[in-house]
Amino acid sequence: MTRATIVGAGGLGGPLALGLAAAGIEVAIVDPDRVELSNLHRQVHFSSADVGQPKASVLAGAVVARGGTAKGYQLRWTAEDADDISGDSDLIVDGSDDPATKFAVADWAVRTGRPYVIAAAIRYGGNVLVGAPPSACYRCLFEEPADAASCQTAGVLGPVVGAIGGVAAALAIGLAKGDRTHAGSIFVFDDLRTKQDPRIVRFEPRAGCPACAAQQRMGA
Ligand SMILES: [Zn+2]
Repeated sequence: MTRATIVGAGGLGGPLALGLAAAGIEVAIVDPDRVELSNLHRQVHFSSADVGQPKASVLAGAVVARGGTAKGYQLRWTAEDADDISGDSDLIVDGSDDPATKFAVADWAVRTGRPYVIAAAIRYGGNVLVGAPPSACYRCLFEEPADAASCQTAGVLGPVVGAIGGVAAALAIGLAKGDRTHAGSIFVFDDLRTKQDPRIVRFEPRAGCPACAAQQRMGA
């Protein structure tokens, strides 16, 4: 059975976990937080009865209730624990709301040679990056965590996370099946309210990228 780690059980993690599990992928769901009332408008896999419960285990329960296979871990995903939690995962998908976690997930995936998807949503849009070593990586494009606005501070329109999470799930399922068409590309949705088309941007490996350099050392 194909296995995936889903980092984050919120607005992106919900459609990711449910989508991958419905495609027959076993999921490990990692999130340190508990369900809050203010989450429910965008994290529609939770209900008011779940408030106060750990997001990871509630989402894992929702997967299992639909016939899927899931484990929930109530903790923040870090590279230190990665081998224990994600060591048997074939791919890893980030839907967290934390730039440092996104870099940690991508760096670990690159270092260990795993395909990965990093999804982000804010306000009315978002983006989804697909990587599969030795493709250009997340750090090739973004270099360092920036002090980006978060959903906590800037907000996000509820259905936007469902849209971005759905795209990320579809791309992750493709990777799980060995489809590397979009490795080294980012899907950009600037504002889903407008007529502007989404963009799929393929980017090149960046000379001197430390994540790619570590991967090349491992592979050498
Ligand atoms: Zn790189």
